[in-house]
Amino acid sequence: MEALYRLLMALRRENPYAGIRSVLYNPITQLRCNSCNTLHTRPHKDGDYVFSPVEEKCPNCGNTSQLIVAIYVEDQTRPKGKR
Ligand SMILES: [Zn+2]
Repeated sequence: MEALYRLLMALRRENPYAGIRSVLYNPITQLRCNSCNTLHTRPHKDGDYVFSPVEEKCPNCGNTSQLIVAIYVEDQTRPKGKR
């Protein structure tokens, strides 16, 4: 499974639309740590998809096994800092 996942990521990287999309919409990936179950967000990367396991370090407990639970687009058109 691990080798297949890496192959899929390599193939996705060649898709010219993937990079363009991330620039236009600035998607955010939400991860859940498999160890402490806390949620974290980071900028979306090529190959991310919902319910995909990823090897990334949890900022809370340092565990490197996390699951993507959501991918969403951050609204960039609204000015920040004013309410
Ligand atoms: Zn954790």
